[in-house]
Amino acid sequence: MFKRLFHTSVKRLSSTFPLEGSPNSPLVVPQNGSSALTFASLTSSNSNWTKQQIHEIYHSPLMELVHRAQLQHRKYHNPEEVQLCTLLSIKTGGCTEDCKYCSQSSRNDTGLKAEKLIKIEEVMKKAKIAKENGSTRFCMGAAWRDMQGRKSGLDKIGEMVKRINTELEMETCVTLGMVDEQQAKALKNSGLTAYNHNIDTSREHYPNVISTRKYDDRLETIKNVQKAGIKACTGGILGLGETTDDHISFLHTLSNMSPHPESLPINRLVPIKGTPIEKELRSKPKEMQLQFDSILRTIATARLLMPESIIRLAAGRYTMKEHEQFLCFMSGCNAIFTGEKMLTTMCNGWDEDIAMLKKWGLRPMKSFSK
Ligand code: SF4
Repeated sequence: MFKRLFHTSVKRLSSTFPLEGSPNSPLVVPQNGSSALTFASLTSSNSNWTKQQIHEIYHSPLMELVHRAQLQHRKYHNPEEVQLCTLLSIKTGGCTEDCKYCSQSSRNDTGLKAEKLIKIEEVMKKAKIAKENGSTRFCMGAAWRDMQGRKSGLDKIGEMVKRINTELEMETCVTLGMVDEQQAKALKNSGLTAYNHNIDTSREHYPNVISTRKYDDRLETIKNVQKAGIKACTGGILGLGETTDDHISFLHTLSNMSPHPESLPINRLVPIKGTPIEKELRSKPKEMQLQFDSILRTIATARLLMPESIIRLAAGRYTMKEHEQFLCFMSGCNAIFTGEKMLTTMCNGWDEDIAMLKKWGLRPMKSFSK
């Protein structure tokens, strides 16, 4: 009975969708993805994606989408390697921006105490611990709108970058808000590997989340960083009340950057009490909130569109069960943040992560290997 049913359904499938594979080729790949999906799996990296193509890829049957993303991943990356990064907040809170999700905005009543830039020796101590635990990229975040009038802060951060590079031989990344070309060049001269500046979400949804700086301001900073010869780390946060069309538009912006971001962080929102977004989301029905399959679709589509980028499972990973993280890796992720904290939110610890990766047959990527 089962055999007959299986036969009939394969026959039906093959009449609807031509099947790759033949008696001589045991691999049966249903072509039930879109032509855009096939195109993305076959073409090399490009920056001319249309929203229509991305829409088709994103909405392909999920099994096929994840499968193609995994094949793409294996063409461009060593599938056994994962980049381990640790993020330290070097200047917490008191930010003048109004990002609705952020605990560090002075406009959001989250109870977070604003602090000054921490001392270089404290940073070195934390970076050393990160290195001893297997992290190869050390990221430092400061809650600032931009670097205007912060010459001494920029110098101190440049010194941190230099020492982490030379004394610990770790890759470095900083996120300091908006920077102009000169500031980016100064960071490059210190030896900075990457600069993080997220676009957060789609251009369309962006004004519902932030009003104190424009989407184009963000793109400008990313351009300044790339012009200075620093790798751009830019991605966003899923779960800000956006739609799947916003995911498509977000991926459209990223995949049309030239070059593509070297690193693409995907965060799952951690709603923080006292932030406007937490209040908004509480009143939304469950089915209108971010579904896990949308996270997978976003990651897999990103992997197909930007095959060379390192896709980083960032904040909110600790809210995912192990099998969910596994699926994110199957869809094309190859980096995680690991350590004591993710700025002001929790983070999975090194021991737990190393054990998990070992179980999956993965190992940490070496620094400067990309
Ligand atoms: S700019 Fe950064 S630190 Fe400032 S409120 Fe927005 S997300 Fe928070």
